[in-house]
Amino acid sequence: MGGTIASSNSTGENGVKPSLSGEELVKNVKGLQEIADVETISFRLKPSADLTFSDLTSAATRISEILDSDADGVVVTQGTDTIEETSFFFDLVINSSKPVVVTGAMRNPTSISSDGDLNLLEAVLVATSSQSKEAGILVVMNGEIHLAPFVQKTNTQNVSTFKSPSLGPVGWISEGKVRFMLKPAYRRIHLPLSNGKEPTIPIVKSVLGDDGIIFKALREEDIQGLIIEATGGGHVSSSVADFVQEYGKSIPIILCSRTGSGEVLTQTYSFKGSEIDLINKGVIPGGILSSVKARILLYLLIKNEYNLQRIAESIQQWL
Ligand code: GLU
Repeated sequence: MGGTIASSNSTGENGVKPSLSGEELVKNVKGLQEIADVETISFRLKPSADLTFSDLTSAATRISEILDSDADGVVVTQGTDTIEETSFFFDLVINSSKPVVVTGAMRNPTSISSDGDLNLLEAVLVATSSQSKEAGILVVMNGEIHLAPFVQKTNTQNVSTFKSPSLGPVGWISEGKVRFMLKPAYRRIHLPLSNGKEPTIPIVKSVLGDDGIIFKALREEDIQGLIIEATGGGHVSSSVADFVQEYGKSIPIILCSRTGSGEVLTQTYSFKGSEIDLINKGVIPGGILSSVKARILLYLLIKNEYNLQRIAESIQQWL
């Protein structure tokens, strides 16, 4: 689907951009043909921030069809910037025991020590391993295996950018062998892909001394849901708390933390703008979900026309 792993510079201008087909990506990966019969599909050729929900819906439909055939698994290559979102989308909508692995590269194919070929080879190894079955969508980067609901990009350039801060990787690849050390113990949700109306769901980050200017601007917008990326355990300024009160009973608002790991609190603090105050105002605690992952889940719940109560139940059930 594009990204750095498929980027090159054929025009002589500064910088690289997505330009390589699936066929070109796999053609020179040493040892790939010995581990699998790889069939390529050039699906999208985009920088990953340009991928849309419509792209992901088409991709998930296509992947599900392939998994229903005699393929052993699927590897998706794409830009690393949004892997944490796309992999979670696939995790929620693809219901198959066969492996689906998402990978990319931090160093493009024209740079020294590009990581694309190795990531692709190891992603295919993981996709062909029987150990990868029933694990949900996996992200394989830099020799590690991560679970889609937890994985995050944590560094702008380092090849070890992918971490699962609340958990860690669940396995790795060593000398061409796939090693799983952990398997998911949480209950996964599967949601159907629906043709419902396209919801708009902004993410608003809370900051020190926040006067709620973004919330004021949002009053003019037609939004169907909202994610608050709150400070610490799930806190906003008292000005923001007033705005939350306006929205809380009419649209779903999910409370996440800007800290990057850990569950948001639900029953510790009672000051204005605290998690208890916000929950009383109608906010749904987002548990372990990062803001961008909460947006993906909320998108699918709204698309499936869940009401406020069912949305809250589904998010709690996910934990
Ligand atoms: N650094 C990004 C990548 O790894 C480039 C932009 C994108 O995500 O497509 O692919």
